[in-house]
Amino acid sequence: MRVSRDKLTKRMEEFRAALKRAGLKITPQRLAVFARLAEEDSHPGARAIHGKLKKKMPGLSLDTVYRTLWLFVDLGIVENMGEIDGVRFDANTEPHHHFICRKCGASFDIYCRDFDDLKLPGELSEIGEAMKAMVEVRGICRKCLSRK
Ligand SMILES: [Zn+2]
Ligand SMILES: [Zn+2]
Repeated sequence: MRVSRDKLTKRMEEFRAALKRAGLKITPQRLAVFARLAEEDSHPGARAIHGKLKKKMPGLSLDTVYRTLWLFVDLGIVENMGEIDGVRFDANTEPHHHFICRKCGASFDIYCRDFDDLKLPGELSEIGEAMKAMVEVRGICRKCLSRK
């Protein structure tokens, strides 16, 4: 789903501010990768982003897209989702959760105060240092439901 113009403007401002704070240049490649990710809440992977951009930017390698995305994760303007071999990226840094379709794998952003307020169990410290909790709701999306 495409995000509203206001949301996109806000994300682009956050992007510029974060790079500036880190003393990093806003290169055309960084700008293109972030804009591609920020304009839709579809949580694409690096390969999908690269596929969309390579026509306009033939010099852009998949490797650069990966490194750029992980840089954004470090800067806190993008979240990574899923396992490392199929990792996807999310430019929505507002508190939110996901609905994942178990048929097609599509993911949708959902907003829910009750989910935001989840208390983390203390045993998590045995696994590592927890930063935040995001709920993943599993189901079948409308598109897949209508295809039955
Ligand atoms: Zn689906
Ligand atoms: Zn999301």
